[in-house]
Amino acid sequence: MPLTEELAARIGANGPLTVADYMAECLTHPRYGYYTTRDPLGQSGDFTTAPEISQMFGELAGLFLAQCWIDLGSPIPFRLVELGPGRGTLMADLLRATAGVPGFHAGLDLHLVEASPVLRQRQQQTTGCALTHHDSFDTVPDGPLFLIANEFLDALPIRQFQRDDEGWRERVIGLRDKELTLGLSAPLHPPFAEDRADDTRPGDIVEHCAAALSVAAAIGQRIAAFGGVALIVDYGDWRSLGDTLQAVRDHGAVPVLEDPGSADLTAHVDFEALARAASPALATRLTPQGVFLERLGITQRAQSLARSLSGDALENHVAAHRRLTHPDEMGTLFKAMALHQKDSPLPPGFAP
Ligand code: SAH
Repeated sequence: MPLTEELAARIGANGPLTVADYMAECLTHPRYGYYTTRDPLGQSGDFTTAPEISQMFGELAGLFLAQCWIDLGSPIPFRLVELGPGRGTLMADLLRATAGVPGFHAGLDLHLVEASPVLRQRQQQTTGCALTHHDSFDTVPDGPLFLIANEFLDALPIRQFQRDDEGWRERVIGLRDKELTLGLSAPLHPPFAEDRADDTRPGDIVEHCAAALSVAAAIGQRIAAFGGVALIVDYGDWRSLGDTLQAVRDHGAVPVLEDPGSADLTAHVDFEALARAASPALATRLTPQGVFLERLGITQRAQSLARSLSGDALENHVAAHRRLTHPDEMGTLFKAMALHQKDSPLPPGFAP
């Protein structure tokens, strides 16, 4: 377990790590990081995602972006951007679904933000088209922006703060008997302390994702300056409360500190914080994924696909529709929110 040893040495030399430092090392360490070393998606991997469950997800995301593009006057050229595209499945479905939209493919310039060399290669193969990879959104060139991020922000490193009678302390990772262990820092003043003074109590944990806020701010500025829309889909809530850090391996939960770098680590997205950071772009209402997909017509699309299916394929298709939309499955845990320019039409699938 070379990453455990490296982290232990770092803690020994410099003191405890924040949860964000730990998450960043586990996920994107250049040699031992979870995403650096593998393709974690699908049945044979550790977890699965909406675009891997059904082609309908990427198709509807594509029609959503194409409709926004038309509503904004079909600007060309424009940047079609995906953050954390995984295997490239969503983008391939999106491109197929939009092939018939006049001018959309001719005007698009595709940019993918991806940390993993393994997944970069996979994305190139799956989409089979000209694209540019980036380490971060900051290097995506200016221009009208049409962006999608599904289950990307949940992988960005969070810090965790716990309130007590005096104020706040940060949850940190130190060593006890050579084992990684969770502890609390000395009292400190977290970035949100004033905002959350009234709706938290001693014992409560609040999470803060600086990386997500900085990408939301950059997207918001880009949209305000050049026009466009960003669709963010992830699990989370309007406001962060409680410890949501989880580790998943082989489709099941495992302890967060066990064998670092070998499990996916995620935390819920704080959509209110994103919406604020994206100003002067506006945020739509936070909408359950199931409601959003129904409004975009997933059931009509499901029925149309079902006509050419039978047996196991039909059963799997019906199960996939349910999995994406039903409140007991991904329908309410996952949420959608779009960022758009002030005074631009409300993006489809969102209520005023
Ligand atoms: N959107 C895809 C994959 C979600 S998994 C889907 O829905 O199937 C998270 C994705 O974000 C992976 O592609 C992962 O490699 C990428 N990722 C995680 N952390 C990242 C970071 N800090 N910078 C860039 N990409 C990152």
